[in-house]
Amino acid sequence: QNHLLSATGTTIFTVMSALAVQHGAINLGQGFPDYDGPEDVIEAAAAALKDGRNQYPPLTGVPELRRAVAEANRRFYGIEVDPDREVVVTSGATEAITACLMAVLNPGDECVLLEPLYDTYLPVVRLLGAVPKLVRLSPPKWELPRAELAAAFGPKTKAILLNTPMNPSSKVFTAAELAFIADLLERHDAYAVCDEVYEHLTYDGWKHIPLMTLPGMRPRCMRVGSAGKTFSLTGWKVGYVTCDATLQPNVAKAHQNLTFTTPPNLQRAVAVGLAKDDGYFASLSGELQARRDLLAEGLARLGFAVLPAQGSYFVTADIRSVGFAGDDVAFCRALTEEAKVTAIPVTAFYAGPDAPNHYARFAFCKNEAVLREALARIGAWV
Ligand code: PMP
Ligand code: GLN
Repeated sequence: QNHLLSATGTTIFTVMSALAVQHGAINLGQGFPDYDGPEDVIEAAAAALKDGRNQYPPLTGVPELRRAVAEANRRFYGIEVDPDREVVVTSGATEAITACLMAVLNPGDECVLLEPLYDTYLPVVRLLGAVPKLVRLSPPKWELPRAELAAAFGPKTKAILLNTPMNPSSKVFTAAELAFIADLLERHDAYAVCDEVYEHLTYDGWKHIPLMTLPGMRPRCMRVGSAGKTFSLTGWKVGYVTCDATLQPNVAKAHQNLTFTTPPNLQRAVAVGLAKDDGYFASLSGELQARRDLLAEGLARLGFAVLPAQGSYFVTADIRSVGFAGDDVAFCRALTEEAKVTAIPVTAFYAGPDAPNHYARFAFCKNEAVLREALARIGAWV
């Protein structure tokens, strides 16, 4: 057996979702909406399934979706993209991130990762034989530790993996922070894999800025999006990479060896989705902001110190503020078993030692009635 995989535990999302099912708990753990995505996008998929284009699509994605990805880059960020030479459609952002890392990392190369981190990053970097350099962001402010970040870059640095809006901290990186990272990339001649799956999920006027839009960054960045998050259809697993034409062939070759292609009908429906008017994208974030407020304010009323959430599906709460004696893992287990509500322990997003162990992550991408019931259950328990 591959020793790196043997040493990797089952993902916390699967573990906690199974525990939620076992105890009949409301699942505010794994981040998936309990409502469907836009009807016209689903209709487009159904129609596409029936019209006979059901065989292998082109390796880099159906032309409709590649054009839609290019157009979305232009519309939202002013990035000009060649749909034939600068886009690769993948089976989810998970595959996209792996393909981008494969495209640039050689064994022994160093890859800078920011903790807390999404659970697939570290195992994939290690499987590629690259060396992770972890830099930690700490709650409650999640500030970018500039000196530590600069120190993590060196002659062997090949890439940084940057997630903004960030899971689970819900941080949106500022223009100044991105400029600092861009300067490091220039000075060390390194690439960035940019996990931007929550690009359209920002709140309170926070705007997502792709690192790719900063001066000099266009050829260094591989920008990853996800239809799962942008259209509340997480099971579809359609992702897309935008990158320079010099990088795209290697991303495409990685994709060729991972999944080769992605279901053509879903791709064509996602193209319909990306062409939706600005009102769709505004109401997506507006509705999620209302759900965030409902959950964050409700948790605060119950006595939790709740950290600000500028983007993504998640709010994080300090479990010490309600007098819980154990750590985050014990809290999330007890919450599931006793209160019948599931959350994710934030230590699951740290690889290094001495991670902060008093935070729980709650997903708010749920119907209001579900969020209210979850709050009532937690209220009866704390
Ligand atoms: N990156 C982050 C930060 C995520 O939270 C997720 C979770 N959905 C993904 C990547 C994976 O996206 P996909 O479902 O499109 O593979
Ligand atoms: N991205 C989702 C989360 O953070 C989980 C996706 C998964 O289960 N792998 O909750």
